[in-house]
Amino acid sequence: MSKPIFEIRPTPSIPILQSEQVFPVRHIYCVGRNYTEHAKEMGYSGREAPFFFSKPADAIVVNPTNLSYPTGTSELHHEVELVVAIGKTGQLIEIDNAWDHVYGYALGIDLTKRDVQAEAKAKSRPWDMAKAFDQSAPISSIISKQAIEHVTEGEISLCINKTVKQQANINQMIWSIPEIIVELSQHITLQAGDLIFTGTPSGVGGIKKGQHVSASLFGKLHLEFVYS
Ligand code: MN
Repeated sequence: MSKPIFEIRPTPSIPILQSEQVFPVRHIYCVGRNYTEHAKEMGYSGREAPFFFSKPADAIVVNPTNLSYPTGTSELHHEVELVVAIGKTGQLIEIDNAWDHVYGYALGIDLTKRDVQAEAKAKSRPWDMAKAFDQSAPISSIISKQAIEHVTEGEISLCINKTVKQQANINQMIWSIPEIIVELSQHITLQAGDLIFTGTPSGVGGIKKGQHVSASLFGKLHLEFVYS
């Protein structure tokens, strides 16, 4: 067998609470505009079919304490999100079976270069450089669905320097977790190891160097880091 020309990178993985095991990450899907108030603040309205974009698996940073401000932007925005961790592969998944594909949940931040995204939108170009950059997906440990039961409601929030910027209940999501799984699996084979960032509530805004970011989900999952 031919040797690879460089060392094969280890698969990014996420610790699982109350477990010695880890969750190996394959692909990150993100849902756009899944809370009405956020859709409105971005200049849209109403329920549209869910749409998706991606980040590479190695965009995750697990439980960071310090992150470097990314290059190529002067408008880095936070988007706090419930993340669904997929534990079972499937395609053309039916709504009644959708929960079977969920392994558990995490708290994630879909970091966005808003200035880069605005330019891409204006020119009808892809969002990759605005969404899929290095360290663009800080994420907490995963809590298994056995430890928390299926999730249909619960508080999600994000603070900058201890001031609340985003606060919502995940029952305000336009597309529910099973509906998102059904829709995604019409387009791709949803695989064990995939993560789905399920969209952000309103209150997105800028993060500056030196600021302290903290976020929590269900009062059980937390993130806390500083930008330098
Ligand atoms: Mn988002």
